[in-house]
Amino acid sequence: VLNQEQYVNRLISSVNNAYDNIPFYRDLLKNKKPIMTLADIQNLPVVTKSDFVGKPAAYITRQNQKKIAITFATTGTTQEKLFVHLELGDFKNWLVPKARDALVNFIGIKKSDIILSTFGWELTQPGSEYAFGAIEAGAHIYPVGPGTITPSKVAVKIIAEKNISVVFATPSYALRLADAALENGIDTSILKIRCFVVTGETLTNAARKRIEQAWKTEVYNIYGMAETGLTGAECKAHSGMHLLTNYIFAEINRNQFTQSFESEQMGELVLTTIGKKGMPFIRYNTHDLVSLTDKPCSCGFQTSIIKAHFGRTDGMLKIKGRGIYPALIEEILLDTEEVSSNYRILIEHGKYTDNISVLAELKPGEAKTKKTHKKVADRIKEELGINLDVKLCKSGSLPHSEGWKEKRIIEVDVRKNTNS
Ligand SMILES: [Zn+2]
Repeated sequence: VLNQEQYVNRLISSVNNAYDNIPFYRDLLKNKKPIMTLADIQNLPVVTKSDFVGKPAAYITRQNQKKIAITFATTGTTQEKLFVHLELGDFKNWLVPKARDALVNFIGIKKSDIILSTFGWELTQPGSEYAFGAIEAGAHIYPVGPGTITPSKVAVKIIAEKNISVVFATPSYALRLADAALENGIDTSILKIRCFVVTGETLTNAARKRIEQAWKTEVYNIYGMAETGLTGAECKAHSGMHLLTNYIFAEINRNQFTQSFESEQMGELVLTTIGKKGMPFIRYNTHDLVSLTDKPCSCGFQTSIIKAHFGRTDGMLKIKGRGIYPALIEEILLDTEEVSSNYRILIEHGKYTDNISVLAELKPGEAKTKKTHKKVADRIKEELGINLDVKLCKSGSLPHSEGWKEKRIIEVDVRKNTNS
């Protein structure tokens, strides 16, 4: 364990290394040198995804191009992908030990654990990062992926027959696997699953409760993104996610959305990678709205704790002039007993106005009743302060999207149709 002085020195040398080697930072940090204290770092400009997207020449020189070993990309479907490069040393000494530390220290992964991972490997980072982290922890892993090659019904069969003790999944895929278990007659109460480790989507309280009930297990939430990989992990106290402080430095963006509490600050999370050489991030604004606290945790680990709120500020929907986080709609739907875990938010962009409706699929055996409809519509009105068009759909009628993240928001352009 590093003491505060060693830690700050590592952070400073990491930033100086980026300054010396990456043209993007050399230009950006012009006249900011020398960086000698933590305060010097906190005076550097805050950057964001758009500063990197489509500008590979800025941070990949011909010189360090040769050192790149693996490339991941952000999963955003609406925005252009950001490609994130790692050198072999970054993978071996930064990405994998970071995942191992999170899995061992906070989630308690042991050598005796048999893990099923449904994370994708297709340009996304959790597939390989978590698998190698688990292997380094001494565990045994079945990397089945998110249903593209190994269907969900085969994955649940492996869970039941191979004594799986831990499952890695997105919250939506954990719920989809629960449906597959039910459809295939698998009794989850006799399984030996110790926990589900989830990441990749905002984990709502209602989704957590549903995963816990369906799988009779505990849920550990992990915070991460392609840019920095696994960044924070929940411990057994489940009161936020411990920052992986040996690898990442975190701050709260003070410019926007910021509120300060006694030992807790709320705002957009800004991250700096420590010791990553291939494509370091310095003061990178994730646009994730979080609280950061240094209060001691009952688990014994005293690292800063990230508490996530609703999701990314740039993922907010503009509905009738108001900003609404999709996670708030999910919270209401998944907290409604009659509604299944599959839903869609349909946005129809019209000529003059956008129409937004919520398609809520019913659980098997539930009928479309006025009572259920009113229950959902009234709660949306009450909690979000707006009227949304709610449509109940028959059980099993909403398709699942391909891959490890369920595509909940569907945008349709109806302008052309209105003219014809
Ligand atoms: Zn803790």
